[in-house]
Amino acid sequence: MIAHTPGEEWFVGETGHYHKCTVCETALPEEDHIESTDERAQYVKLSEDGFHKIQCVCGADIVEKEACTYVYIEGEGSAPNNSTHTETCKCGAHTYPKHTPKEGDEGNYFTTETEHYQECSVCNYQYGKSEHVIKKSGSKRGNLISVDMENHTYTCVTCQKTVTGKHKEFTVTANSTNTTEDGSATQYLYRCPECQFTLCTFEYSSSENTYGITSVLTEHYTTTAFSGEKEFTLTLPNSFKTPAGVEKQVTKSAGLISNATIKLTKLIVPEGIALFQTRVQNCPYLETVIFPEGLVFLYDNIGLFKGNPKLTKIVLPKTVKQTAYHTSKLVGDDDAKPTAYFCGTQDEWQANDEVKNCFSAIKYYGTDWHWEDESKKDTPVDGAKPVALLPTMITTTQARKREI
Ligand SMILES: [Zn+2]
Ligand SMILES: [Zn+2]
Ligand SMILES: [Zn+2]
Ligand SMILES: [Zn+2]
Ligand SMILES: [Zn+2]
Ligand SMILES: [Zn+2]
Repeated sequence: MIAHTPGEEWFVGETGHYHKCTVCETALPEEDHIESTDERAQYVKLSEDGFHKIQCVCGADIVEKEACTYVYIEGEGSAPNNSTHTETCKCGAHTYPKHTPKEGDEGNYFTTETEHYQECSVCNYQYGKSEHVIKKSGSKRGNLISVDMENHTYTCVTCQKTVTGKHKEFTVTANSTNTTEDGSATQYLYRCPECQFTLCTFEYSSSENTYGITSVLTEHYTTTAFSGEKEFTLTLPNSFKTPAGVEKQVTKSAGLISNATIKLTKLIVPEGIALFQTRVQNCPYLETVIFPEGLVFLYDNIGLFKGNPKLTKIVLPKTVKQTAYHTSKLVGDDDAKPTAYFCGTQDEWQANDEVKNCFSAIKYYGTDWHWEDESKKDTPVDGAKPVALLPTMITTTQARKREI
């Protein structure tokens, strides 16, 4: 008997599939359909999205309906973009899932000093590259931690990295000009477009005696830039450039820092400030104010440090010659008033009494100032800064209230 010659083509049988003989057309014995796991299994996309069937080599359905399983295959489908890559099923269906970020140095982000980006653990594509972001788009809420004339430090709202960078070039606006007896005073606003740090200055046109630059941190500044969520330190400026580019030293600080929502914890008054007149009020997070050696006057007649419940202490360098008329005017008259410490000796303090040409004489409060503890007058107060500058102190903690 001559053997049949099986053809290539498969035919569907009762329970399996078979070939026919190419010579006599006889159906050869049936064999079992292949398993769905067989390499030769055909995945056929169904019209319903996300499903296919699996067919045997003969065309019979082995699996009538199965959910697609997508895997990433490099080079298949569209190239990865900033949010998705392509994954492909054996049936040819595509899906475009979002990238899955790898763990980077800051959570799900990789960072440099100036930028952050993510990298997909599936396709290795780098995406979302951006400069660090100081505030959410359209929001005035910054994430500032500290700010001085040169730099801003903030937590990137996207990657959470703590970033220190130079301010962007300040925009300068002439805000208003007031004519006074001494001439005119023009107010300029300098603003970092990135962090919204705004410095307000006054430039006086008058005689040498009154010509000067007063740096002012305005309400505008505090409410606009620092309704942030992070605690921060603020270093006041001691110089700045005029719109004409002339460097001006700042010797006086004025203006107002007052805002119950800002999280200002520490205020640093820089070297070179001789007159401190910035009213610092109603800052519920403020704990520390640092004055420079060389500060001579602290003056305000409404309460320079009123209403700051966490500011329990202010330390006056020994160069201070004059404060407000009355201690209550310096620290406020409310329950939360801080204790004021003087870094010089009692004699030095009392010598201030002799200072002439002070528009408020020390004698007004005379006995309101006394040693915190007579027996420990050589012991610096713990935590006061700068401790090294505190050989002895005088305090108003237990100062008698006294009416003027
Ligand atoms: Zn045959
Ligand atoms: Zn088959
Ligand atoms: Zn499929
Ligand atoms: Zn990806
Ligand atoms: Zn970032
Ligand atoms: Zn800035």
